[in-house]
Parts: sequence; structure tokens; C-alpha cells
Amino acid sequence: MNNRQLFLSHLAQTTDFPLMIEIEKAEGVFLYGPNGERYLDLISGIGVSNVGHRHPKVLAAIHAQLEKYLHLMVYGEYVQQPQAQLAQALVHTLPEPLDNVYLVNSGSEAVEGALKLAKRYTNRREILTCENAYHGSSHGALSVGGNEQFKRAYRPLVPGIRQIAYGNKDHLEDITTDTAAIILETIQGEAGVQVAEIGYFQALRKKCNETGTLLILDEIQAGFGRTGTFWAFEDFGIQPDILVCAKGMGGGMPIGSFISSREIMSVLKNNPLLGHITTFGGHPVSAAASLATIQVIQDEALVAGVREKANLFKKLLVHPKITGIRNKGLMMALSFDSFEVLKPIIDRCIGNGVITDWFLFCDNAMRIAPPLTISRKEIEFACSKILQSIES
Ligand code: PMP
Repeated sequence: MNNRQLFLSHLAQTTDFPLMIEIEKAEGVFLYGPNGERYLDLISGIGVSNVGHRHPKVLAAIHAQLEKYLHLMVYGEYVQQPQAQLAQALVHTLPEPLDNVYLVNSGSEAVEGALKLAKRYTNRREILTCENAYHGSSHGALSVGGNEQFKRAYRPLVPGIRQIAYGNKDHLEDITTDTAAIILETIQGEAGVQVAEIGYFQALRKKCNETGTLLILDEIQAGFGRTGTFWAFEDFGIQPDILVCAKGMGGGMPIGSFISSREIMSVLKNNPLLGHITTFGGHPVSAAASLATIQVIQDEALVAGVREKANLFKKLLVHPKITGIRNKGLMMALSFDSFEVLKPIIDRCIGNGVITDWFLFCDNAMRIAPPLTISRKEIEFACSKILQSIES
């Protein structure tokens, strides 16, 4: 059997429409197939490869760590240089008092940790979440998800969770002194890039302060420069009590984190109640890759170029079949009339050497989230291929 047949026979499938692109190698903004096919990657493995694939400095950090040690001990016991230095680098990107970093393996695990932390710190049980939110696929993360279709088959889920509309100030009245936390994506990703207004975030912060409710911002997809600031919340003049991140954090290696103040985080170490335990969380190779990733974002001033690159996409992607563009920096959604219109366009894009897809909860919009390293010329190439794929 060839690899495509093996993929279909023995790998559990997640969708009726797998992209099924076979990849041999990746470098920068390009992926390469076994027969020399070259694809420009406009989705970055869903917002992961912000610094491009196999960035040389990330590879060098991985190689250097391979020479020292792999896994040594569960997270939080031994002093491991990559973890300590990564925590410092993360804290330097954040405002006070966000100075305590808990390293985990993935976005979903970071969400789990954040929810547990909020319950433990506030001694409250109710969690608020937003309609159309995506926070991950584990039971807790799914419970705070905002799409009933995804949740229905798994009920009963975690109790005590209520949903409000993202971006609607009137619904903030639902936050009370019984609410442990509200969790939301600063920019909703899988809903097809929904961006709330600055006034909403300010009212949200105020309401959380008044009720002693912790504000958990999920920047798993929006963080690490994607939206044109290092963290998306920076643009709204507020800050979270707990920040959740993953994806772009590892430069292509698996790692995630929930970050808070020392005061809030300290409840997780109070014995005899167990906090959060993770064997592989903050794996030293991933931590070394993540530290290098943050350095690359800073040294190459990648964040500074994001808005101009996004504007170039928006200027070039004009076509009667494109019914709208929503974006925050290089987190973009291009709307079409329906999935039936969009799907063949995406197939033709891939045939024309440009990889894109759609969103979990918004299947009439094309995802555009390239590595932040993409050049003007590559954007022009991508847009000409998208327009050509719409036309033919
Ligand atoms: N939150 C958001 C906003 C996400 O986009 C994702 C992944 N798409 C997750 C959480 C879950 O992350 P992971 O797949 O690493 O568990």
C-alpha cells in the first residue's frame, strides 16, 4: 500500500474531507510533495508555523537540546534550563502581574489547567463561555466550547457552564459574584475570525473586576504575533487574569501554557489537594524550540510587518464571489456564499500550489493565516492563484 492508502486504512479519520496532501518536506512558507510539488502554505498548520516551517534558529535550538537531554521528570520538579528561560522570555512579553507560567503539551490541556485554576482560586463553580467558541477537544475544553453540534454526543459534559454571545455587551450582566471565570478567545478563530469591539473588552474587564470573576483569554490561535501585536489583547487596552496559549508557541513543536500571576497560580501547589499534573508538559525540546521562536519573532521584527501584509492581501483579494473579508492582522477569513461554492475553489487552490482551508464552525469562509514571514512577492503569488482558482 502507498502512503495515501495507509493514511485512509489505518489512521483514524477526523473528517469526511481530509485535505489528503502528501508532504515530504517543509521549509519557510513552502511545503513540498513527494514528486516535487510545491505548495505555498496559507494556513500554517492552523496558526502554528508563525515563524515559518523549520526556521533555522528553531532547528538549531532543537539540535542543541537533543545533545543534552530529552524528558527527565514530570513538569515542575527538576530545574531544566529550557523551561526556566522560556518562562522568563514569556513573562517579558507580558504586563505585570502575569509572571507565572505553567507549561503543558497542547492548547486543550492549557484550557483545562486554566479552568481548574479559576475554580480553585475563586472557590466558585460557574464558568461562562461564548457562543461559537472553540477551546479544544478534551472533555473540559469541549464543555466550554460554543458549538452544540460538537458537544451533543458527549453529554453530560462538565456542569456549571453557561454561554453568552461573544462581543455583546448586554450579556455581560450574566457575570455575577458566583462566576469563577469567563473564558473567551480574544479573536474567535474557528467561528471564522470574529473580532469584538474595544468597548466590549473594556466593559468585560470592568465587569470581571466588579464581580471578582477571572478573565481567561484564549490566545492559542491569536497569540505570538498573528494579529499584529505579540498578544491580541494588547490592542484592546485590557489584560487577562489567565492567558492561555499554544500552537505558534513552539515554532512547530508541541507545547502550550496557561499563564497568570504568582498569587493566583500559587493555589495549585497547596497540598494535599492536587493541582495540575503533566508528565510531558514543557518538554525540554519543545521548550528550547519555543524560546528560539520567541527570539525569532522579536529579532526579525515579525509583528511589525503583520498589518501591512494583511492589508496587501485585502487590497489584492477583490472579486465579486468574495462576499467579505474579516481579519485581525494575518488571521483572516474570506467569505463566499456557501461551502458548495468554496470547497471547489479550495481544491483548485491546492491544485494551483496554494494551501488553504475553511473553519470548523464557518464552512463558507476560506482561512488565510500564513507564516508571518511571508514576503510581498509570495502574497502577490498567493492572491493571483486564489483569484485564478475562483475564476476557473
Ligand atoms: N483554543 C483555540 C482558540 C484553538 O484554535 C485551538 C485549536 N484549534 C484550541 C484551543 C485547542 O488546541 P489544541 O488543538 O492544541 O488542543
